[in-house]
Amino acid sequence: MKYDFLIVGAGLFGAAFAHEAKKKGKNCLVIDRRDHIGGNIYTEEIDGIQVHKYGAHIFHTSNREIWDYVNQFAEFNNYINAPVAVYQDELYNLPFNMNTFSKMWNIRTPEEAKEIIAKQIASLDIQEPQNLEEQALSLVGRDVYEKLIQGYTEKQWGRDCKELPAFIIKRLPLRFTYDNNYFNDRYQGIPVGGYTKLVEQMLVDIPVRLNTDFFTLKDVEYDRLVFTGQIDEYYNYQFGPLQYRSVYFETERLECENYQGNAVVNYTHREVPYTRIIEHKHFEYGAQPVTIISREYSREWEPGVEPYYPVNNAENNSLYERYQQLGEAEEKVIFGGRLGQYKYYDMDKVLEAALAAARQYL
Ligand code: UDP
Repeated sequence: MKYDFLIVGAGLFGAAFAHEAKKKGKNCLVIDRRDHIGGNIYTEEIDGIQVHKYGAHIFHTSNREIWDYVNQFAEFNNYINAPVAVYQDELYNLPFNMNTFSKMWNIRTPEEAKEIIAKQIASLDIQEPQNLEEQALSLVGRDVYEKLIQGYTEKQWGRDCKELPAFIIKRLPLRFTYDNNYFNDRYQGIPVGGYTKLVEQMLVDIPVRLNTDFFTLKDVEYDRLVFTGQIDEYYNYQFGPLQYRSVYFETERLECENYQGNAVVNYTHREVPYTRIIEHKHFEYGAQPVTIISREYSREWEPGVEPYYPVNNAENNSLYERYQQLGEAEEKVIFGGRLGQYKYYDMDKVLEAALAAARQYL
């Protein structure tokens, strides 16, 4: 049998594209190297707790169409992400807001906070921020940068803040209200029962082959290919490898009901080896008598480990452009997702891209 589409990668991009293709009457085969669907949003139930095996995923979007789209596949709860940051023996609310500033400077009003930040910024003389450090300093000043950004970012990316692109820090809101919501988006939540179930719903009646590597696949015929793996690997690293950041987890089951009182606690001090601890049950307000926590460590990607984050600095972006040109010249191959498009996508943006590709190619 010949498929209309071979879809490589059963993550969010692949699953959404497959779902749309199936709706249009196309025959699709989805394959994945791993032994499960869902890519990095995969969740696994342990003791009644949905464990985010590849790190915390909180769905958020301002796009009503995307929100309606995901809600076809799962019911979303009303979880609002409000991480806290631990710096040495101090604890702060994130994102940077009046709770953070009031704790840091023992002040109360937006006016006082703005004045302190403005003073710190004025002494820096940064015109147009050229990198993450300059961007962060010119947004929030030195105190917040040194306690809550610098150490965390250097652990997370394994690079000096001066060598990282400014846009990464703009992901975080800065506000002068007492509002700990990590996102500014209109819609937010976690799919009740986990992300794996959501992806399963997207893939209903679509054949999926797990433990199947595209590069050694032999017996499958298809018209078009949707590739959501690393674009540089697809082209056999012919211009050299792109850089990715990887993370790994130390997951523990604890005989305690509530370990840290929050789903996400960031450790922003450089000396703490992990970047954050996730307590999974709090994503779904779990009342189990036990808990599962994951300490998240960051490392550089190399062949054999899972790639998570593209490192979108100038060097990698220009290398990616060369791969992208090869990709655009292909008539029968569509590249998608974080790895296929070398882009630090959030889940809603992945879906937007998958639906746009579906509109274009179906
Ligand atoms: N960040 C930080 N301190 C924190 C949390 C985040 O400096 O406590 C910075 C860091 O550079 C990070 C970026 O903000 O890479 C984006 O954080 P986000 O939480 O969006 O990252 P993700 O959850 O995608 O890993």
